[in-house]
Amino acid sequence: MLLEEPLETLRKSLGTARIVAFTGAGISAESGIPTFRGPNGLWKSYSPEKLATLEAFSRDPRLVWEWYDWRRQIIHQAQPNSGHRALAEIERRAAGRFTLVTQNVDGLHDRAGSRSVVKLHGDIWRVRCTGCQAEEPNEQVPLAPLPPLCRCGALLRPAVVWFGEALPEGAWERAHEAAARAEVFLVIGTSAMVYPAAGLVQIACHSGARVAIVNPDPTPADEFADWILRGPAGEILARLL
Ligand code: NAD
Repeated sequence: MLLEEPLETLRKSLGTARIVAFTGAGISAESGIPTFRGPNGLWKSYSPEKLATLEAFSRDPRLVWEWYDWRRQIIHQAQPNSGHRALAEIERRAAGRFTLVTQNVDGLHDRAGSRSVVKLHGDIWRVRCTGCQAEEPNEQVPLAPLPPLCRCGALLRPAVVWFGEALPEGAWERAHEAAARAEVFLVIGTSAMVYPAAGLVQIACHSGARVAIVNPDPTPADEFADWILRGPAGEILARLL
């Protein structure tokens, strides 16, 4: 079958290389978590671009929190899939030369056993105060009351990065440095359209990494690819191992 040969050469290239895996919502699709841009990505016909913004939150914090609460309930019921588990296993085998950078906020990489996850877009299981800025874990499902309030009385917000907001500084620095040093850069389940995160593919490619894409659909990052593995991440990463 056509897929075997690229899988085999990619597998060999992972042997001693410095590896970065860069994941997006697609890796969690097989766990039943809707992607943003897929056919099941709609919630009450609002588009995520209209909800995941500071403007939307300032206008209607309850509406935005209802959406996050809905997503938290889906994620809470979901389990990591074979794609998340394969990346945790690659981290064990390639200890010291593997970095996982994710755009996902769902925490499934941690639950699959990945130890060191660079979270570029924050964490849906943490909240941050819009007043005193205190941040803390919050795993209450469902959340009540909505919107939740901080002890200081101000509104809490999800500790995630909204469209138009800067990435957490430390996370971006770690991701940038890992991409620039990578020898093999795996791009898994991302539409590669949300910047600056998507720019990591170019950074890795221009710094000499070989790039592998794992995605059932074409993406703008395909032009940088040495390998394109078309199909669901869970299936392909399990076979890669
Ligand atoms: P996206 O929705 O823009 O793209 C998802 C990509 O995954 C698409 O290219 C799609 O073809 C691909 N895909 C679908 N099923 C797949 C599968 N089984 N295996 C591999 N690939 C598959 O998501 P994105 O690129 O991550 O970027 C948008 C933003 O959405 C990110 O900032 C992220 O924070 C956020 N987001 C996160 C989650 C989550 O945490 N699970 C869910 C939705 C959106």
